Amino acid sequence: MQVTATRTVACPHCGEDATVSLPSEDADVNVSHSVAAFGDHTTVTCSQGHTYWVYFC
Ligand SMILES: [Zn+2]
Repeated sequence: MQVTATRTVACPHCGEDATVSLPSEDADVNVSHSVAAFGDHTTVTCSQGHTYWVYFC
């Protein structure tokens, strides 16, 4: 994946901001607390130890 953009997302558990890398500037991001079987995604772990998934398309 070539990274061309970043986006700030909030942890769905505690609201802490995290920066994720996106393949394009106009990608739509979708934060999920569970894994889905489709789509490009990245996994984020916040400083409180919460793991969540960010989908983009
Ligand atoms: Zn968190």
